[in-house]
Amino acid sequence: MNETGIKHRAILASENLSEILLSLKLNAMHDRLETMLDMCGTADLTHRESLALFCDIERERRSERRITMGMRIAHFPFIRTLDTFDFSEQASIDPGQIRELALCRWIAGGDNTILLGPPGVGKTHLAIALGREAIIRGYSTMFVTAVGLLANLTKAHSENKLEQRLAYYAKPKLLIIDELGYLPFDVNTAHLFFQLVSKRYGKSATMITSNRAFGEWGEIFGDHVVATALLDRLLHNSHVITIKGESYRLKTKRKSGVLPMTLAQNSGQ
Ligand code: ADP
Ligand code: MG
Repeated sequence: MNETGIKHRAILASENLSEILLSLKLNAMHDRLETMLDMCGTADLTHRESLALFCDIERERRSERRITMGMRIAHFPFIRTLDTFDFSEQASIDPGQIRELALCRWIAGGDNTILLGPPGVGKTHLAIALGREAIIRGYSTMFVTAVGLLANLTKAHSENKLEQRLAYYAKPKLLIIDELGYLPFDVNTAHLFFQLVSKRYGKSATMITSNRAFGEWGEIFGDHVVATALLDRLLHNSHVITIKGESYRLKTKRKSGVLPMTLAQNSGQ
């Protein structure tokens, strides 16, 4: 194409620019077209710099969308971040270990993370915050409570749909199972859980929070053989974080004088 041809084509495209951007689904470029063009002019950017800026804005929008979608799919009960976790209040946690987990290398390798500790010490907070980091890094993530998960598996089993349900829970690259052990379950349910853990084993990462020490898992599962087999799979290539101390909320209430010293100190154990 000669110079006149190029010029002619550019004029035509320019008239339809908004439409072209929409048809290419370049929505961020479309939405911010005029402001961005003004900005490129004011900042005296080269053609190359201007083009890079436009592309970068589109990329940023897509990344935000992907994270928003990922967070929706994850079904977190609420949002917590690592920034809002007060490490100075939890001496039993090594901030370096949490930062390392936040890099998500363990998820890429299909390892497991288990957060143990009494109620209120921040297990769910950390699980959600680490799940959010996983989504930001592009890993599909799903959050379930142990009670909800097991009720679902039991229902599916009774309806002859266990395989489908197991496949559903086996799919996310990171599955977060919150509050294992708050309620004990029978041996049949324990077997269903074992099947799920086996299906994910070595392929996808699982994070579990529990208020019960491993030695008590036999009681939770109603069967020591299943509990041992489960722990064998879960603990192979795993990161275990044991949080000690009292409930964060009670501690902060006690500090502010709302609770008497003794009550707050005893209830977190
Ligand atoms: P757990 O799951 O161990 O029972 P949670 O994670 O639900 O505890 O924590 C209870 C509440 O206290 C949550 O609102 C959580 O955000 C907050 N919390 C716990 N530990 C901390 C902490 N170290 N810094 C900031 N907030 C915390
Ligand atoms: Mg919790």
